[in-house]
Order: sequence, then C-alpha cells, then structure tokens
Amino acid sequence: MGMHSFHYQNGSLHCEDVDLVSLADTHGTPAYVYSANTIRDHYGRLDQALAEIDHGIEYAVKANSNLSVLKLLVEEGSGFDIVSGGELRRVIEAGGDAGKCTFAGVGKTREEIEYALAEGIYCFNAESEEEVVFIDKVAGEMGKVAPVAFRVNPNVDAKTHKYISTGKSENKFGVDFASIDDAYARASKLANVRLRGLQMHIGSQLTSLQPFIEAVEKVAPLAVRLKDTYGIEFFSIGGGVGIVYDSALESGPTEWWSDQDEDQRPLTISQYAAGVVPVLKETGLKILLEPGRYIVGNAGVLLTRCLYEKKGSAKTFRIVDAGMNDLIRPALYEGHHDIVPLRESTGESSMVDVVGPVCETGDFFCQDRELPDFAPGEAIALLSAGAYGFVMASNYNSRPLPVEILVDGGEARVIRPRQTMDDILASEKSAMLS
Ligand SMILES: *Cc1c(COP(=O)(O)O)cnc(C)c1O
Repeated sequence: MGMHSFHYQNGSLHCEDVDLVSLADTHGTPAYVYSANTIRDHYGRLDQALAEIDHGIEYAVKANSNLSVLKLLVEEGSGFDIVSGGELRRVIEAGGDAGKCTFAGVGKTREEIEYALAEGIYCFNAESEEEVVFIDKVAGEMGKVAPVAFRVNPNVDAKTHKYISTGKSENKFGVDFASIDDAYARASKLANVRLRGLQMHIGSQLTSLQPFIEAVEKVAPLAVRLKDTYGIEFFSIGGGVGIVYDSALESGPTEWWSDQDEDQRPLTISQYAAGVVPVLKETGLKILLEPGRYIVGNAGVLLTRCLYEKKGSAKTFRIVDAGMNDLIRPALYEGHHDIVPLRESTGESSMVDVVGPVCETGDFFCQDRELPDFAPGEAIALLSAGAYGFVMASNYNSRPLPVEILVDGGEARVIRPRQTMDDILASEKSAMLS
C-alpha cells in the first residue's frame, strides 16, 4: 500500500526506473504518472490475501478509468464494478468481459439497463425495490432475465469523511437492513429477474478494521439465509480499504506502519483478510470485493511546476500550474496529499501554502505546511493521486485536462494526451450562434 515504486535515485524522484524530472520536462505539467507495477502488485496482494476462499476482484472503475489502466487489470484477470453505462463501455473497449462486471449505483437509466443486459452483465447491484421492478420491466421487454442483487445498507459507521461514508441509514445508498428480507421476497416473484447475490459497501478510505468486521458479521447470516432461500451465489463486501496519504513515500512496501499515528495508520491487506475471511468462509458463497483506491491510489502522482512564490503579509504562497480542476480531493473531501520536490531536497524547508491558479479560495493543495524548499521553475509531485484524481478533473476555468502517463519498468507511455484548447472548443464552435 506504500508508494514503493516512487523513490529518489541520483537526486531525483523516479517512478520505477523513469526519472520524473526529465519526464516533466518532456511532457510538460500538470501530468498524472502511474506505476504499472504498483497496480499489478496491489491487485496480486489482494488476490493472494483471499486465496483460501472462492473470490473475485471487481475493480471499481470510477477510481481510475483510463483504458490502459483497465487493460492492465484485464490482463491480471480482474472483473469490474461499474457505476454507469459509460464505465461499461470503457471496460469493453479495454478488452474486459461484461460477464465479469457488477453494476452499482442508485440511478440507473433505461438506456444503461438495456445496454448492460445486451452486453450480458454479471449482475445489477440494485439500490432500491423500485429499481428492481424497473429492471424486471426492461428485461421483460427485451425477452431477457436480469441477474440482480440488492445492496444492503448495514447501518454501520465507517468512521471516514462524511462525504465518502455510505453505510449508514441516513445515506442514500442501499436498502435498509430491516427491509431487506421483504425486498428479496417481493423480487423473487418477478418473472424477469434472477436473484444472484447480495452486496454492501460501507464507505471509502477506511483505515480501521472494526467497521468492516462489524458489517461482515452483521450481514453474513443474511447472505446465508438468502442462499438457502433463493439460491444466491455471491456476497460482495464492497471496497473501501484505505491507503496511506501521509508519509506515503516512507511507508514502503512492507505491511508495517508502526510509526504512524493510530488514526493515520492504514489497514494492511493481511489484517483486512485475517479479519474478514474466517466469517466469509463460513457462508460458502463466492465472495466479491470492489477495491478502487487500494489498487490505484498509491500508484499515481500528479506532477506540477511552481510558477511563482508570493510572499503575503500573513503567508507564503507557492503558486503551481495544477489546480483544483486537475485534482479536487483537497477541496472536496479535505483530502491530504504529500508534496515533494522532484529534485531531492537539500534539507531546507519552510511553511507555505501550495495553491493553484483557479479563481477559487478552495483551490489549494496544502495550507500552512512545512515543506522542503522548491523554487519557481521547479517541478514537484503530489503523491497518492492515482485514485479519484484524473477521473474527477474538469475544464473549469477553460483549463485543458492533463496528460496521463503509464510507467512500466523503464518505459513511459502517454496513455492519454494532454487535451488541447481545440479539443475543448470543437463541439461548441460547430454549435455556436451565427
Ligand atoms: C466507490 C465504490 C467502490 C470503491 O471504493 P474504494 O474506496 O475506492 O475502494 C466499491 N463499490 C462501490 C459500490 C462503490 O461505489
């Protein structure tokens, strides 16, 4: 879970064997850079940790949906958890199989349901009875039987940021635990759906084991009951395993974070497995996991260049060429990203705010943080930016989307070119008032 593919070598930060100083010079900034071997490694660790139970990994596409990232995971044998028809299209374009995809989300449209049915989706993970009734109707019209699971809301506190907590009764997600038996009973009477599984997902960036255990222990008996009554075949326990955002470089490849504060200490994947596997094994069901952040979060960085240092009366601002439109996590979730210069620090440091060029007060990457010195003209890296980074980028302030680069060993490949202003303007120009 550490960022072990990012390290200093000969005085400059490298991703695997690629020097990020020259990469930033060649491709410009802002630029997302991902490590292929970190992605493979995290996938493999999770797969290994679950080896003793029948399981499947459904990578949560929304965390990072670049076609080459998906392709790499197809090659590892991954299935995919999607939240839109667009994500299904991406999986298929990347060579993935709809028959290994689960379809989550509270607001699936007719078009999305038809598309997923036509492609042969493994299962719709439905979030309400109303949705299942509608899926039944659409499937009937198409002469198909739709595989369906309900997402149960176990009413467990994930103890994460309120915007990424999903498993409490007051959240919009899933069917209340108290109503779930009735929901299955009614759905079992529908002619065009087949009850295939049970799903839950209690939140994202969980850094303690206890909420996972609480949820699994609460829901496993229900899963067994549904297996006995309706013959369901899988129980998906969702994603949500947290990663290291603080001191990510130092945390390394090992699974020990003893020097971390209690609430910053990430959950290791072996602790996670040791906690949930014994309970899950007893169910006799196929267990699905939907990791997003765990697979790609620490596999990516955002490179940006310092434009100016502005010394105000109260603060020193380092203004960089990436903004909240490129990486919105700090503004949206108060997300922390470590910031390091690409040239290894000489040891000097100072207290600064690192801010972007966007016209919003929320456009900052850190405030009042002691950072190793870097000067205008120098490039820096925002670490742990592989998940919920590029996928949330926008054209706000008419800023083109950054380039995405995948590093594999000594090779760096552009997997999405930097957007141009011509790209941005094309559709508007053809539709412009004359
Ligand atoms: C977002 C999401 C995930 C992935 O969450 P991570 O915290 O990135 O692991 C998994 N399942 C569902 C249903 C989701 O919405």
